[in-house]
Amino acid sequence: MLPPGLYLVATPIGNLADITLRALETLREADVVYAEDTRHTAILLAKYAIRTPCLSCHKFSERAKEAEILSRVRAGEKVALVTDAGMPGISDPGGRLAEAARAAGLPVTAVPGPCALVAALALLGWHEHPGHRFEGFLDNRTAPRRRRLKELGNEDVPVVFYESPHRVEKFLTEVAEELGEGRRVFLARELTKQFEETREGTVAELKAWWAAHPRKGEFVLVLLPAAAGREK
Ligand code: SAM
Repeated sequence: MLPPGLYLVATPIGNLADITLRALETLREADVVYAEDTRHTAILLAKYAIRTPCLSCHKFSERAKEAEILSRVRAGEKVALVTDAGMPGISDPGGRLAEAARAAGLPVTAVPGPCALVAALALLGWHEHPGHRFEGFLDNRTAPRRRRLKELGNEDVPVVFYESPHRVEKFLTEVAEELGEGRRVFLARELTKQFEETREGTVAELKAWWAAHPRKGEFVLVLLPAAAGREK
């Protein structure tokens, strides 16, 4: 029996089979599922024959929905929150709600599962130093992006970025210009999906590869520390 509370439920980042038994149980037993995009989540719920009512909690309406969701939890309901992909709260609208619920003294439970950050780090196989830094999305504006990249270029651990597909080339160019053509970057694309691939190289190599094979899809980009002279 699921106790009342807010449940942050991880959902697949591509492959619909990547969902935990506990996530399915929670979605099934919840009184309501709030989703970033109800059409997207409807596909997942239909695949697993889950009939829990699904309501929208898109990031732009999140403030408005916040009070509604918290009052449901306060009234003793079991509310599941899912975002478009992966772990709610990791570079998506889940974070605000989790914080608000905790601040209100309400029970919040993570139902962990797929996360693009974790999958990319596992594939990178970083063993020189156990840490990493997660930056998420860079600013869209050129000057702050470049300033931030320059700062992050001094990190002595891999720095992980989420990036939209049409900005990957821009990212490589900016890294080359701010940190040098020899800086190494790791790219993880379309994780868990049919066209999953990874590539590691200097930005000069990756820019040349990209020019010959422009790619679509979702990407995690990892900036490796300057000292990383990894053997391929
Ligand atoms: N909460 C999610 C998580 O746990 O990973 C991340 C949500 S964030 C709004 C979406 C970004 O995650 C995408 O722009 C992309 O950078 C990354 N991402 C999500 N799914 C991915 C996939 N299958 N392959 C590579 N990157 C992915």
